[in-house]
Amino acid sequence: MTENFQQGRLVEKIQAAKDVVILRVSLPNIQQKKYTAGQFFMLALPDMHNKSGFLVKKAYSVATCCAKHYEDYIEFCIRYYENGELSPKLARLKVGDTILLDGPYGKFTIDPLTKQNLVLLAGGTGVAPMMGFIRQILNEQMKNPILLLYNTKTSKDLLYKTELEEISNDVSNINVVFSLTQDGKESGKGSAEKGRITLAMIKKYCKDKDLNNKEFFICGPVEMIRELKQALLDAGVEKSLIKIDVW
Ligand SMILES: Cc1cc2nc3c(=O)[nH]c(=O)nc-3n(C[C@H](O)[C@H](O)[C@H](O)COP(=O)(O)OP(=O)(O)OC[C@H]3O[C@@H](n4cnc5c(N)ncnc54)[C@H](O)[C@@H]3O)c2cc1C
Repeated sequence: MTENFQQGRLVEKIQAAKDVVILRVSLPNIQQKKYTAGQFFMLALPDMHNKSGFLVKKAYSVATCCAKHYEDYIEFCIRYYENGELSPKLARLKVGDTILLDGPYGKFTIDPLTKQNLVLLAGGTGVAPMMGFIRQILNEQMKNPILLLYNTKTSKDLLYKTELEEISNDVSNINVVFSLTQDGKESGKGSAEKGRITLAMIKKYCKDKDLNNKEFFICGPVEMIRELKQALLDAGVEKSLIKIDVW
């Protein structure tokens, strides 16, 4: 069971929100570790086994992309639950500690040759794979119009807020819009939409109103994914244009 795991080392830990940590993990020969933004790794800790003797392992999406800028580490963005089996232990790790990685896995990825407009819909830590996409899009200098709609409860819960605001201001083809379920309007700098992401919100920020010339990527709480997917299907979007990552 441990054969597929590689030993990584925590090189940086950032407390990104009250209950979310960003972990940067280096691997030996990391330059040869090819992964695609949107994929995930199984993470585990040495000596943490379940009753059957297997390593306790959970999936975490990469928030980086395979580019020169990120050649020293792979980044994960982890919400931890007090009563969770693995996440609180990951959150308590210290720089220098060992983490085991198995992967990459998953098909929640962007075709680098796509010419479609991309609409990224994220809730909470569901922004992790979207960060990977945005970093990939910047690295590959893709010119497709990109919209990221990102929902959290309050502005304090927004992850990567400053980086996303800067990208939205500086990069002409990327537009980032925050939506806040609890405290609405004020996101600190500029304004945010109030409430959950809706079809009306998506239409409002898509410059081109034709929903069928876009690809949709959705990641977040299960209920959010279900609602948005159904709303897009009801609006006539082809199923093949909607990609979801369910956690
Ligand atoms: C493909 C994939 C990618 C993923 N990527 C990420 C990622 O990038 N970042 C990330 O934080 N997580 C991600 N997850 C979820 C992650 O794998 C774990 O399920 C999560 O960290 C909880 O694990 P745990 O062992 O701490 O909690 P568990 O022991 O599995 O759960 C214990 C308790 O924690 C609470 N809990 C667990 N999950 C949730 C939840 N979703 N909502 C509310 N309460 C919950 C509940 O009270 C639950 O009873 C991903 C999952 C998949 C399948």
